[in-house]
Amino acid sequence: MKTSTRVVIIGGGVVGCSVAYHLTKLGWSDVVLLERSELTSGSTWHAAGGFHTLNGDTNMAALQGYTIKLYHELEELTGMSCGLHHVGGVTLADNQDSFDMLLAERAKHRYMGLETEIVGPEEIAKIAPITNTDGIIGALYDPLDGHLDPSGTTHAYAKAARIGGAEI
Ligand SMILES: Cc1cc2nc3c(=O)[nH]c(=O)nc-3n(C[C@H](O)[C@H](O)[C@H](O)COP(=O)(O)OP(=O)(O)OC[C@H]3O[C@@H](n4cnc5c(N)ncnc54)[C@H](O)[C@@H]3O)c2cc1C
Repeated sequence: MKTSTRVVIIGGGVVGCSVAYHLTKLGWSDVVLLERSELTSGSTWHAAGGFHTLNGDTNMAALQGYTIKLYHELEELTGMSCGLHHVGGVTLADNQDSFDMLLAERAKHRYMGLETEIVGPEEIAKIAPITNTDGIIGALYDPLDGHLDPSGTTHAYAKAARIGGAEI
């Protein structure tokens, strides 16, 4: 193992492996990631793997949107599956204040290039037939919402980082 390197990342969960990949993507190949046990042995192993773009913080929403698109890039680069399932998601509003918040989110998404949609009760019933739409004013629908395999995704990040020269 190297005794000197430009950067050491401690922890081989999804975050550490993503940082390793992004550093190599930006041109830093002298990167070492240290994991005390095995990759994905922390919180990442327990995660349900759900993802969505709705977030009150614009930077977080942009980061989530960026990451959802990144999984496809990662699969192409590594030939590994992230276990992506874009099942879509609806965030419901049962009062005017919540609905106004969703309208504001949609406006933000339009600016960010995210293809979410404001839908009414009839469309909600078509998208997710088990939903009780009594008292629901509307919803924000995101076709990209879904879930993935956290372990597979972490290993894909690790492979992509290794391709870029990182040592794990
Ligand atoms: C039950 C549950 C469900 C979740 N569901 C979701 C979900 O649906 N969607 C979502 O986005 N997030 C979800 N999360 C959150 C998500 O799992 C975490 O945000 C994410 O996994 C954190 O990744 P991490 O790499 O920061 O940490 P970890 O995965 O915990 O990785 C840290 C790593 O560091 C290693 N380590 C620690 N100390 C050292 C050391 N001194 N030297 C070397 N290695 C060390 C550990 O062994 C571990 O592998 C869920 C979490 C839980 C617990």
